[in-house]
Amino acid sequence: MKRILLVEDNAANRKLIGDHLRRAGHEVREVETADKGIELALAEKFDLVVMDVQLPGTDGLTATRLLRSSPVTRSLPVLAVTAHAMRGDEERILAAGCDGYAAKPIAYKEFLALVARLLAGGREAEGRGP
Ligand code: MN
Repeated sequence: MKRILLVEDNAANRKLIGDHLRRAGHEVREVETADKGIELALAEKFDLVVMDVQLPGTDGLTATRLLRSSPVTRSLPVLAVTAHAMRGDEERILAAGCDGYAAKPIAYKEFLALVARLLAGGREAEGRGP
């Protein structure tokens, strides 16, 4: 069983994503804000972060950059979830240090396959520095 940190402000989405991850056999910790997510990621051991990009307050990409800047969470995989899959978004998301992304509405079969790849240490796309 892997421990996944889910950062998503929308309660319905949070429950839906969380339920899919739990059904796939994972332990899921759910939080509503990036600040709470960063705090938890620094304090506890997780195997993956599923990060909503659009969050009130600190947004998901800023949060990912913060995780990348700490030695504790530098190599913690981050899977971004975004409502807007527009041109340039993938580049922006990967440049922030995310390892992969899924657009809403989430196609769960593909999403869970991506989760499995990231948990296995794979990288969805290159784009992170050394
Ligand atoms: Mn959101």
